[in-house]
Amino acid sequence: MSQKTLFQRIADGEIPGDFVHQDERCFAIRDINPQSPTHILIIPRKPIASNDHVEGEDADLIGHLFLVAKSLAASESLVNGYRLVFNCGSDGGQEVPHLHLHLLGGRKMAWPPG
Ligand code: AMP
Repeated sequence: MSQKTLFQRIADGEIPGDFVHQDERCFAIRDINPQSPTHILIIPRKPIASNDHVEGEDADLIGHLFLVAKSLAASESLVNGYRLVFNCGSDGGQEVPHLHLHLLGGRKMAWPPG
């Protein structure tokens, strides 16, 4: 039996999460260690490990994550913009091996990122 990811355990209510969106394909929670005034993780229910594990059949699902991000950016009043990030692998800074889209906003972002 394969082990659940951290985000599957949050989705299943085994670990608390501050949910801001839920639908049949994904859910969104506030990041426990926010890097900006708004920091939300948009997470597919399907436990895709990383961007390197996305398949062609996931294309609609990935597009859906971006539409949810757009909706959440509006509900969070991020009228001056925001940043969307998928960290991938160790050099990309990915800590949780379950694909998730970071929605960061509420402050001016720097470039290049750290
Ligand atoms: P990444 O480094 O891209 O894998 O991002 C993982 C994110 O998950 C980090 O920003 C963490 O702060 C966040 N995180 C870890 N545990 C939790 C949790 N229990 N609830 C909400 N966010 C979490």
